[in-house]
Amino acid sequence: MSDIQEQILTPPTSALVDISHRDLRDDEYWRAIPAYADLRADEFHEHRFQSRNSVTSLKKLREVLGSVVSEAFYRDVEQGLLRSPMSLRISPYLLSLIDWSEPAEDPLRIQFLPMESRMRPDHPELSLDSLHEQEDSPVPGLTHRYADRALFLTLDTCPVYCRFCTRSYAVGLDTEDVEKVHFGAIVQRWEQVFAYIASRPELEDIVISGGDVANLKAEHIEYIGTRLLDIEHVRRMRYATKAPAIMPQKLVTDREWVDALARVVEAGRKVHKEVALHTHFNHPREITAISGRALDELMERGICVRNQTVLQKGVNDDVDTMQHLVRQLSYLNVHPYYTFVHDMVRGVEELRTTLATAIDLEKAVRGQTAGFNTPAFVLDTMGGGGKRDVHSYEHYDRQTGIAVFTSPAVRPGEVFFYYDPLDALDPQSAQRWSDPAERASMRQAALAAALQT
Ligand SMILES: *Cc1c(COP(=O)(O)O)cnc(C)c1O
Ligand code: SF4
Repeated sequence: MSDIQEQILTPPTSALVDISHRDLRDDEYWRAIPAYADLRADEFHEHRFQSRNSVTSLKKLREVLGSVVSEAFYRDVEQGLLRSPMSLRISPYLLSLIDWSEPAEDPLRIQFLPMESRMRPDHPELSLDSLHEQEDSPVPGLTHRYADRALFLTLDTCPVYCRFCTRSYAVGLDTEDVEKVHFGAIVQRWEQVFAYIASRPELEDIVISGGDVANLKAEHIEYIGTRLLDIEHVRRMRYATKAPAIMPQKLVTDREWVDALARVVEAGRKVHKEVALHTHFNHPREITAISGRALDELMERGICVRNQTVLQKGVNDDVDTMQHLVRQLSYLNVHPYYTFVHDMVRGVEELRTTLATAIDLEKAVRGQTAGFNTPAFVLDTMGGGGKRDVHSYEHYDRQTGIAVFTSPAVRPGEVFFYYDPLDALDPQSAQRWSDPAERASMRQAALAAALQT
């Protein structure tokens, strides 16, 4: 045998590589839920069924799950909801993918359903509008923080509500009611946004977000897209929706909505402007055969999809989960774009990880696949400094958990702090945080160290 033949016959390295990310779950998992037990696949995988039957209260949760979980669990959730800043809303799809034999540890339960017994006191340095979106808002519903791009908050509702969201939306209001009452006013408000964007020639890139654009009607998707494409200096747009991750049925059965989006993408291409979809998968468990169909549909329509993940303790803060997620998204033609360190948000302290966790995960993820499918691990600074690469801190003290960042391109001359969750610190360091004088001195020391570098 020649050397070359021998080389070819050497087992490829892929024999050693885990390819389980190619298997997409395709059983009738919803039938384990009492309320969905009799549904056929075509009934369950229908976006109207999914949105009409989303669980928005503890009462509804009881009706759907019945005795699948214990009374103690319901009480735990009830108390958790009382302490939560976010409304409750979970799609039947997500609900069916939760392992109800062990809800406390389930990565989907953790993201959408609070359990009081798992909650932790907020970090002493936490403030409510942690990202100061209001401050950078020249007109209602638009955040203009970075010079060339802006965030357009088109509406206040989402098909599900994530516990970790930085925008405590629509609290106590049912999504459908909000839209019935407010849509006229919302469309009028958009005019101010279009006028502002048109008046700022430096704006090239618009994030069309919400809430979640899945809750916009097809005609509004097209209207917003067309209006923005008409502004000459706008070159890039991204529609932001969690639908592929939490209600993929939307993209499979809501033809009108997908057609509207595809028309905007096509119109954009004709005038050499990029229109993409940004979504938000956090865990491989969210990805099933129906997600595959949804993403194939977007691929066929020529719609580029990128993903932003939020790092959460007990959800995706381990190497295996993060690697699997990145591989699976890449396989489904979704580009992993960002992995965010959890923001400092009220009432979800148990979800936060340390900055060090993000740095370690980045090390484990980079190199396993193409660079364009490797997310940047970033932290959105409190106080409006914008997103920073997790490695780019000026100073990071793992003992006190204080990190200090600067952001020369966004807010020159300012510094921004991030604080690791207290239960990740050693007990003595965590104890120091209960004394206000100690807190001030720890901050002072971190700032001095940062300014020296
Ligand atoms: C994240 C964000 C953007 C978009 O930033 P990219 O880094 O380009 O994804 C724009 N505006 C605001 C306020 C943001 O938070
Ligand atoms: S879908 Fe997005 S905007 Fe809506 S609650 Fe979740 S993170 Fe917040």
